[in-house]
Amino acid sequence: MTRLTEFRQASRAWLQANCPESQRLPIVKREQIWGGRRRIFPSADAQVWFERMRDKGWTAPEWPTAYGGGGLSAAEAGILTQEMTALGCRPPLYEIGVWMFGPALLEYGTETQRQEHLPPIVRGEIRWCQGYSEPSAGSDLVSLKTRAEDKGDHFLVNGTKIWTTQADKADWIFCLVRTDPYAPKQAGISFLLIDMATAGVSTTPIPLISGESEFCQTFFDDVRVPKGNLVGELHGGWNVAKALLRHERKLMSIMGTMVEKEEGNIIDLARQYVGLDAEEKLRNPLLRHQLAQHLMRAQCDSLTTERIQQQYKHGQPDNNLPLIMKYLSTTEQQSKDELMLAIMGNRGLSWDDATYTENERKLVRNWAYNKAHTIAGGTSEIQLNIIAKRALGLPS
Ligand SMILES: Cc1cc2nc3c(=O)[nH]c(=O)nc-3n(C[C@H](O)[C@H](O)[C@H](O)COP(=O)(O)OP(=O)(O)OC[C@H]3O[C@@H](n4cnc5c(N)ncnc54)[C@H](O)[C@@H]3O)c2cc1C
Repeated sequence: MTRLTEFRQASRAWLQANCPESQRLPIVKREQIWGGRRRIFPSADAQVWFERMRDKGWTAPEWPTAYGGGGLSAAEAGILTQEMTALGCRPPLYEIGVWMFGPALLEYGTETQRQEHLPPIVRGEIRWCQGYSEPSAGSDLVSLKTRAEDKGDHFLVNGTKIWTTQADKADWIFCLVRTDPYAPKQAGISFLLIDMATAGVSTTPIPLISGESEFCQTFFDDVRVPKGNLVGELHGGWNVAKALLRHERKLMSIMGTMVEKEEGNIIDLARQYVGLDAEEKLRNPLLRHQLAQHLMRAQCDSLTTERIQQQYKHGQPDNNLPLIMKYLSTTEQQSKDELMLAIMGNRGLSWDDATYTENERKLVRNWAYNKAHTIAGGTSEIQLNIIAKRALGLPS
């Protein structure tokens, strides 16, 4: 028996013995476990599941055991994901520290920084947020203006970040700051870690049309940040930023496997709302055609996601593929949402009408929310520019 086959058998047996039944049901948003000082568990089972996975280091399976991770190879981590998917296990921890910041720190951080920041992420004790965008620097991120002045033993930070997801719930923020205002744009940027509890840091939630508020504007007013919180070279933060964005785009390209699924499948929805003809076919031929197109694209999407995971498993990732998939999968999700609402007809017009079923309201809310996915982590237009330049080698 090969080492990987043994690992598959052992991890399957462990998951079967340790994942509570309730944690094998499809994930719903309100039951996701986010880390942090103010962490709350939605149920006793969720806590048990989280703690068992944490103790094995499987909240960050590929991180070295020296930092609390699982120490798995890419191939083993791929097998673990497959086994968890086969059993329906919920992700034990949702945390951008695990998905994005930790991998960048492993690459660019000092040993002291890794020891300080990685273990609390694995243990779900510290929650991170991302301070990149500013009111006048989104796609054109290199225009950012938040200043960090060198004051000898510390930096003094002043400025503001926007669209900071869950900043009001996060404990730390990783930030892009301008340390040299005279250097050409990206040459003067550094990557700084800031404890949100530091004097001068404040957040203001931004209300959304749905009534929820998951973004904040984050303000820095004379915030003193220790020099030891600089990751990478002074003025060399753009390299760290790009490495982190690669992890963010990889995450977004496989996001569909981690988020709450809409209730029911689209074919059942069509049967329910449009009905069948005498030959048991959907009544509307145009809709049949649209559905067939969607199902073919969805199949391509899932096969390509599987291909990306296999490439990581074998340590031979094609870095262009997540770039392309981020664009395709987020666009496809939106066309699926449009199709679902078209199927529902006048039952797909409101997310708060009390005469609608809960599922109908949820599908309409998803339609609105999923618009964000072609903006977050780099807009589709910017993705296409990058694909043209980097993947296809076209001239700028
Ligand atoms: C759900 C969500 C979560 C987010 N979370 C965070 C977070 O935690 N931290 C953070 O820092 N940011 C976050 N963001 C912000 C996100 O990174 C920015 O919204 C994104 O980079 C776009 O910037 P912008 O909103 O300023 O739009 P702009 O850059 O002003 O773009 C406006 C429009 O112009 C187009 N455009 C701009 N430049 C070009 C070009 N060169 N070529 C062609 N078209 C162009 C864009 O594609 C877009 O359609 C989040 C956004 C969303 C939607």
